[in-house]
Amino acid sequence: MKPAKLSMRDYAVIMAVTLAFTSVATLLVFAIDYTNLMAQSAEQRWRDIRSDILNPVLIGGPTFFYLFSKLRQLALTRKMLERLAFTDSLTGIFNRRAFHNAVEPVLLSDVPVAAAMMVLDVDHFKKVNDTYGHHTGDEALVAVTEAIKACLNEDEVFGRIGGEEFAVFTRCATPGLAALQAERLRAAVAASDFGNALQSSRLTISIGVAFSDTSTTYEQLYREADACLYEAKQRGRDCVVVTFRDRPRAFGDKISSSVSAA
Ligand code: GH3
Ligand code: MG
Ligand code: MG
Repeated sequence: MKPAKLSMRDYAVIMAVTLAFTSVATLLVFAIDYTNLMAQSAEQRWRDIRSDILNPVLIGGPTFFYLFSKLRQLALTRKMLERLAFTDSLTGIFNRRAFHNAVEPVLLSDVPVAAAMMVLDVDHFKKVNDTYGHHTGDEALVAVTEAIKACLNEDEVFGRIGGEEFAVFTRCATPGLAALQAERLRAAVAASDFGNALQSSRLTISIGVAFSDTSTTYEQLYREADACLYEAKQRGRDCVVVTFRDRPRAFGDKISSSVSAA
């Protein structure tokens, strides 16, 4: 991987810092040399003053410039690596680790939050790959990502946590509101046009939702949402199943247009 490139703004800042450090170094040399300069003849003093200025400028200047350029480059490269480590390369959204890192601190906070974890899985996706090829499958995953992203608020966390599996974490007051949001996502994907590549085939997603307003862990909430996703697949896919205090409920046009007991 190539190191990060510095911009004109970076160079301007580096020049300013170099100038400041070189000035301080020059003043320091003068301070150290002060008693020596005072004891010298005028001619010798001017010669020493010249070298007290030239030495820090000629040696310190380029050294500071090189040092600060390298430090800035390292900082930018580190940022770039961090971004790569937490971004899903196909869709550009959070990967599994980044999603986990964003959600866990919210669940671990001292005050329990009302929130829902949704696990979304594309239905019969293997068939898409088998029928249209892996490349079209990739394009479909990007299109699904965009369709979901368009329905989310800025404070909702969205990530790709596996092949054709996504997750959304949302703060909401009730399981009913979580179900409504999941239903919006399901409907948005079902209504999406995936272009000519899929020859007008419909793509759908199934969603498992776990709601909690008490203390819980990431693993527990994820496990509950995943169990709901499994149930949504069992119910024929393209639907939403929500759980709250061990009472699974379904919401989706496959089962009923309103929430019904599982
Ligand atoms: P279900 O409705 O039960 O979820 O069926 P499915 O076919 O979607 O599930 P299955 O687990 O059998 O297959 C998932 C497929 O997703 C298999 C795998 O090749 C494909 N897949 C996973 N990651 C990617 C990817 O990054 N790109 C593409 N094109 N396909 C992927
Ligand atoms: Mg699938
Ligand atoms: Mg899957």
